[in-house]
Amino acid sequence: MANVRLEGITRKFNSATAIEDISFEVPDGQFWVMVGPSGCGKSTILRTIAGLDTQSSGNLYIGDALMNGIPARARDVAMVFQNYALYPHMTVAKNLAFGLRMRGVDAKTMQERVETVARSLNIAHLLDRKPRQLSGGQQQRVALGRAIARQPQVFLLDEPLSNLDAQLRDDTRAELKQLHQQVGITTIYVTHDQVEAMTLADRIVVLNRGQIQQIGDPQTIYARPANLMVATFLGNPPMNILHATYTGEVFQVAGQSLSCPPALQDKLQLSQGQGVELGIRPEHITIKNEKLKIKNQEEKEALSMNGETPPLQHSLLMVEVKVVEPLGRETLIRANLPASEVPLNIQAASDWRGHSGDRISVQLDLNQLFVFDPTTGDALFP
Ligand code: ATP
Repeated sequence: MANVRLEGITRKFNSATAIEDISFEVPDGQFWVMVGPSGCGKSTILRTIAGLDTQSSGNLYIGDALMNGIPARARDVAMVFQNYALYPHMTVAKNLAFGLRMRGVDAKTMQERVETVARSLNIAHLLDRKPRQLSGGQQQRVALGRAIARQPQVFLLDEPLSNLDAQLRDDTRAELKQLHQQVGITTIYVTHDQVEAMTLADRIVVLNRGQIQQIGDPQTIYARPANLMVATFLGNPPMNILHATYTGEVFQVAGQSLSCPPALQDKLQLSQGQGVELGIRPEHITIKNEKLKIKNQEEKEALSMNGETPPLQHSLLMVEVKVVEPLGRETLIRANLPASEVPLNIQAASDWRGHSGDRISVQLDLNQLFVFDPTTGDALFP
């Protein structure tokens, strides 16, 4: 096992830059996941680490050894792709043993390793079968098993579960996590699937257009996204983004008002008329069918005389329901702010009964607001 260190790795294809100045270090034994939209450079990074592609500039280390110019077969990494290729004429046992045989491992060790890996992946009963006698999920486990049996220093997985159906994918994901806890091989895993990223990763690397957007543990990435791209990429349904104008203690959002929480105001010192992008996750919005009662005038005056912060009166938005999606455990409401195309997704209780076309008021938990710079997309708050 070994740590993997990338220092300023750039890969250009002719004049196009696929990845730019990528630097991170995966400590020995950790499980890191790279996520990002299609074409952001995930596979290019993985292939560069494997030695299947060569960086245009930058240094790659596995352990303390500089890997620049070292061919793939000498790197002691095992890679599993989405389109795994098993040897069709070999049994499962022989497929699992293949990498060991190529490295001249003795027969007894080989048999022990094959049996251990087969047991941990639940394919011990399939050792005598040929790949064509296996389901897709079983074949994928054999492909994973073949890589694990080699006990490489580093494990590189490129969307290894994406060919599996939903149930099998869930099961194999959990097995993979358990397996990593047992064997502890340094792993770098590429996926489009945010559930895989959130559940498997010690650290997530979020990429966009060939550049790193943020590196962090799953909770940090979710709770403190560095920018709009990260905020809207992780989370399902994604974070809602509302363009707003600050007008002194309130934000104007498509003709409606939202109070600006004091903590936010203290930190940002927004100026009158300043534009921001507000972020709010669907789980931080609740449905209220009546409008919030405005505090009476006396109460308001008393508060202002005491110099206290006014209450967050404006936490409601009126929305028009567009689509209702019952998901069993909850109901997803896709709505718009009236007279605008501004969408707002709301996670409601499963027993919520409403219809497309209904106008409802929803309450935002304003303590859960995110604020982003409308020009750079960078997170300004929290
Ligand atoms: P996906 O999730 O769709 O697999 P990805 O994030 O893995 O995408 P890469 O395959 O790493 O993305 O590609 C990154 C960029 O590099 C893309 O714009 C792609 O078109 C480009 N690219 C990759 N390989 C080559 C190549 N051999 N020649 C030219 N451009 C390439």
